[in-house]
Amino acid sequence: MTPAIKITGIKSYPVRVGVRNQLLVKVETDQGLSGWGESGLTGREKAVVGAIEHYREFLVGQDALQIGRIWQELYRSQYFEGGRVLQAAISAIDIALHDIKGKALGVPVYALLGGKHRTFIPTFASTGDSGNEGAVERAQELRALGFDAIRFFPIGQDSRDLFEPRESIAPTARLLNKAREQLGDAVVLGIDYHHRLSVAEAASFCGKLDRGVLDFLEEPIRDETPEAYASLRTMTDVPFAIGEEFSSKWQFLPYVERGLHQFNRLDVCNVGGLTEAMKIAGWSEAHYVDLMPHNPLGPVCTAATIHFAAAVPNFAWLETREPERELGFDDSDFFPVQPRLEGAVYPVSDAPGLGIEVNEASLAKQSFSFWEAPHLRRRDGSVTNW
Ligand SMILES: [Mg+2]
Repeated sequence: MTPAIKITGIKSYPVRVGVRNQLLVKVETDQGLSGWGESGLTGREKAVVGAIEHYREFLVGQDALQIGRIWQELYRSQYFEGGRVLQAAISAIDIALHDIKGKALGVPVYALLGGKHRTFIPTFASTGDSGNEGAVERAQELRALGFDAIRFFPIGQDSRDLFEPRESIAPTARLLNKAREQLGDAVVLGIDYHHRLSVAEAASFCGKLDRGVLDFLEEPIRDETPEAYASLRTMTDVPFAIGEEFSSKWQFLPYVERGLHQFNRLDVCNVGGLTEAMKIAGWSEAHYVDLMPHNPLGPVCTAATIHFAAAVPNFAWLETREPERELGFDDSDFFPVQPRLEGAVYPVSDAPGLGIEVNEASLAKQSFSFWEAPHLRRRDGSVTNW
């Protein structure tokens, strides 16, 4: 039996890295081993830091190797369990514990999750914020780089203050019809509507698309009401990609069991870490739903998701994040060893743990800067979804 590795400390780094804050979490142990996790509640990181402080109180002294048991204690040993803040905190801790366990046993994290199904991880790329004529050109460039799954964004999404759904859906449908014509049949085409439509608007949007144009529609509407998705499901046959905001297996329950989504967008940094993600993956497998993980954060999230993607049979594409190309900065000072795209795929690291290196001293020099998502309004002044 492997001797216990006691947790001695948990540090949170909610810091600006390039163009955004990242909430990186380090779990330290009495064996000199440490692990890194990341938390995905973008825009409300300080709330998650507070939750991690509460958890640290009883995690110090516990055996870092008992990951499943710790998950249960983090979730169940309180009265007000669950929710996006607590689950984002649990996610980061759970990922860090996997990193520690892999390092302790000298195996990559995917080995802890059952082993490797694939030698590389297919990805999808996005055309960026150009929900306009330039988007098709950008998609052509992505094709040339080797991407065969490409996601568009809706026309009108660039605005920081106004979004009028009916002004977006017809031009966006025309853009996608044109994109399919120009890109051909071999490419997988999707769009992320960032839950900005109503059921009626989403149905109208789908009705304006030529048949077969779209391979997935991501988040057409908000997700609080599965019945709304059930209603929309009867109005279109375009596959839905949903779940990046979900914070537990229970939130996925109606979507998986009622066949409401066809691609699962879970986010390992929000759903409850790798422990929870593996359970949802198995459940999705039983319903023939493929995983298409959300991955907009930093290299720790990407590395954790790559190990997850390697270890599940039902996998479609991983969302890519390539800072230099997409965001215009190089983060290799903060993350000297991190996943790097090879063409349109990620190789799977065989190094122990997550296979990343984090420069803690560089992170410690960074500070937090408050950021608000755009507060979008309709033309009449009322509030609408970002
Ligand atoms: Mg999305």
